[in-house]
Amino acid sequence: MAKNIKLEIVTPDKAVVSEEVQIVMAPGALGEFGVLVGHTPFLTTLKVGIVRYVEADGQERRVFVSGGFAEALPDKVTILAESAERRRDIDLERAKAALERAQKRLAEEARKEEVDYTRARAALERALQRLRIAETRRREAA
Ligand code: ATP
Repeated sequence: MAKNIKLEIVTPDKAVVSEEVQIVMAPGALGEFGVLVGHTPFLTTLKVGIVRYVEADGQERRVFVSGGFAEALPDKVTILAESAERRRDIDLERAKAALERAQKRLAEEARKEEVDYTRARAALERALQRLRIAETRRREAA
């Protein structure tokens, strides 16, 4: 059996990752899961969070995903997400600004009915996860 699996991470706009990898770890709705070659097929929804994978040469990579779906097959993992960015492509200042905007909306929520609480919470979660992944980039570069 082949040693690697094909990982595809796609959004409506673009293919973010298309690579042969050794292992994929993803934030499933019921908890983080790992997929190695030969895994039993399954389908799951994803939480907002970080997909980690190890490339064929042993290098670990991280990608932000805004939730979505994952399909695991014995030789392939496909992730469909509304948005996704490789760690190196995350714009830190943009994520900080999004976090501040969401925090402001949530603070207003108690006073104003027109604030969409669910939407603001989701935006907050995306910003926090982007900042979390970008933080590991800064730590590892140091
Ligand atoms: P914002 O309010 O800054 O747009 P958002 O969480 O609402 O953030 P999304 O709807 O998840 O943004 O994504 C819209 C597009 O912008 C996607 O293509 C996504 O990859 C990109 N994007 C959003 N935030 C960032 C970021 N901090 N760095 C790089 N790309 C980003």
